[in-house]
Amino acid sequence: MKPYKNKINRIRSFALSLIFIGVVIMYIGIFFRSNEIIMLIFMLLGVIAIIGSTVVYAWIGTLSTRAARVKCPNCGKHTKMLGRVDMCGHCREPLTLDLELEGKEFDVAYNKTKKPQEESFK
Ligand SMILES: [Zn+2]
Repeated sequence: MKPYKNKINRIRSFALSLIFIGVVIMYIGIFFRSNEIIMLIFMLLGVIAIIGSTVVYAWIGTLSTRAARVKCPNCGKHTKMLGRVDMCGHCREPLTLDLELEGKEFDVAYNKTKKPQEESFK
């Protein structure tokens, strides 16, 4: 069982769960209809969660344009990857754009350490 998922897919499922959380919070609010203030707070929290989800979706949109489109060597499908290492969105094959990391064990920590050449450009 591989613990890591494709980053874009992971953010997308987070945004989707936010919508559900928002709906559930608003649904809970209905049970408090005898107390208008509590009901209003729940409704407001639900709306905030749904707005947050929209923001995350917009964020995915901007991330997708920057993400590298690669063909997965394992399943042959096209997937988008972020950072130095990522997972295939279809089969969870570890992917890298970095030749240095090719053949190495998949580790998300590679995304935190930048290449020295990249740093000198900044
Ligand atoms: Zn794949």
